[in-house]
Amino acid sequence: MSFSIEAKIRDSIAICGTILRKKGLNYVKKKIQIAIDGPAGAGKSTIAKIAAEKLGYTYIDTGAMYRALTLKALRQSIDLSSEDQVTALLKESTIELKPSENGQLVFLDGENVSNEIRSNEVTSNVSSVAAHASMREIMVELQFEMAVKGGVIMDGRDIGTAVLPDAELKIFMSATVEERARRRFEDNQKRGIESSFESLKEEIALRDKKDSERKASPLVQAEDAIFVDTTSMNIEQAAEAILKLASERMA
Ligand code: C5P
Repeated sequence: MSFSIEAKIRDSIAICGTILRKKGLNYVKKKIQIAIDGPAGAGKSTIAKIAAEKLGYTYIDTGAMYRALTLKALRQSIDLSSEDQVTALLKESTIELKPSENGQLVFLDGENVSNEIRSNEVTSNVSSVAAHASMREIMVELQFEMAVKGGVIMDGRDIGTAVLPDAELKIFMSATVEERARRRFEDNQKRGIESSFESLKEEIALRDKKDSERKASPLVQAEDAIFVDTTSMNIEQAAEAILKLASERMA
């Protein structure tokens, strides 16, 4: 009985939405799921954060979860190539993403590891950890639960293909490897971190290769994803492009 009442309410809301849209009034907004995938350094997280703030949505950085697990694996000196060991490690870990005034914080077993997960050591090992299928099954489940209510922008490598295959909006964001390395280089300079453009380019290209060639949910554009090339866009232009697409899907 309650099912039929719920169904009637849903139908009425849908009819109201249709009437308002026919009148050109698009202010009935759905809380949708937005999936942004793409290679390292394409600007996904920066742009997703801006768009999420403007929409009042939750931003979920799934890469941070793989980074947190990698940090723990390195600390415990486990064999990163062992699927069993990496999966067992995730099963005994708690990884939480919490919003804060300074952006999203990442907690590993209750410890704030937001800075440590960005270290060079984690960055150069995360793709090996992320390659294991049975570990990914658990991560995908956790991430799906975080997004199930909608009103989220989630970024990663397999969001549109594995985590949120029914997302209302899927974006595949990329830029040339030179441009992505240039952005990382400038970012490091601003933070006072020494780095070389050539080695950043190599690290990014290697990570792209590992992420795209792995067997378990490789980095690939979902069939129904919209390709956004940010090579010649600035942050505001790219965020604007995403917000425009989101607004069309929310109407
Ligand atoms: O997004 P970020 O560069 O922090 O991701 C770090 C790594 O985590 C990626 O290079 C990839 O190996 C892995 N990752 C993944 N699936 C996701 C998000 C990240 O395999 N959804």
